[in-house]
Amino acid sequence: MSEIAEYKRGFACVDGEFVPAATASVSIFDHSFLYGDGVFESIICRNGKPFALRPHLDRLWASCRYLQITPPFDQEQISAFITELLHRNELSEGYVRVVISRGEGYPVSDPRRARNPTLVISVQGSAATERSSDLGVKLAIASTRRTPPICLEPRVKSNNYLNHIVAKLEAIAAGADDALMLDLDGNIAELPVANIFVRHGDVLSTPPSNGILAGITRATILRLVAEGAAGPGMRVAERVMAAYDLFTAEEAFIVGTGTGVAFVESIDGRRIGDGAAGPVTKRLMDAYTELLARDEFDSQPTTQGA
Ligand code: PMP
Repeated sequence: MSEIAEYKRGFACVDGEFVPAATASVSIFDHSFLYGDGVFESIICRNGKPFALRPHLDRLWASCRYLQITPPFDQEQISAFITELLHRNELSEGYVRVVISRGEGYPVSDPRRARNPTLVISVQGSAATERSSDLGVKLAIASTRRTPPICLEPRVKSNNYLNHIVAKLEAIAAGADDALMLDLDGNIAELPVANIFVRHGDVLSTPPSNGILAGITRATILRLVAEGAAGPGMRVAERVMAAYDLFTAEEAFIVGTGTGVAFVESIDGRRIGDGAAGPVTKRLMDAYTELLARDEFDSQPTTQGA
């Protein structure tokens, strides 16, 4: 028998039942499979516990409410399933994915035909890309734009990532690691699965939270900066930025659950700062790593990431 690929070893939780991940299944008539009609969260775990679980579940609930999907379990139940799943998979460090789909129904894009939402929780022992902190990220500005609220509300963390994937394809074709997506007006939005910060002097700027998926990691960074972790006098501005603001930055970094904090080496082949991790990026990388390592971390970033 061939070996089970690492990503599908152990258990998953489907509608509250713990089943081997390799054979866990959802229906071929599930509306998330057919139409991307579902929502999800990815959560980092340390010391056997999910980090910032409450804001993640609040964001999941907000996404469900917006799409008029009734979660099939309450937050306490989902929290207990996550704890049990980490325990069954003997994972103290890793990532949890919680997916709620509209559920199975007649294969037509009418949400009324799928009445029983499906819950799937799975875990991974490591991030998709474990990046050494000495390695930066090379970005390419994609021509594919971030979905504007008039097309699909970007604050909803839905199972519709196609324009992010097309942007990523563009970045790969350009020889970059990842894509930087602009909004319809040509302003900086975010990456396919991460948010961005840039530094000019003692100001760290990041795009405003209403045109992007404002991440839980972004909220954690805002909190760390407010607590002085970026150095004395450093402050944050949530502001609209153009490519100009990136190319003139002294340093830039990206943040996300899977990414952690990673410095931006170049954008479209143009070096940012001196092409290495800047001093503020380094401080925040360390502060974030320390925060995650704390045995009893505070699971509530002060700024809601929803
Ligand atoms: N933007 C998008 C579009 C994302 O998918 C993610 C990953 N969830 C992020 C930003 C970063 O969010 P978080 O810090 O909550 O992982």
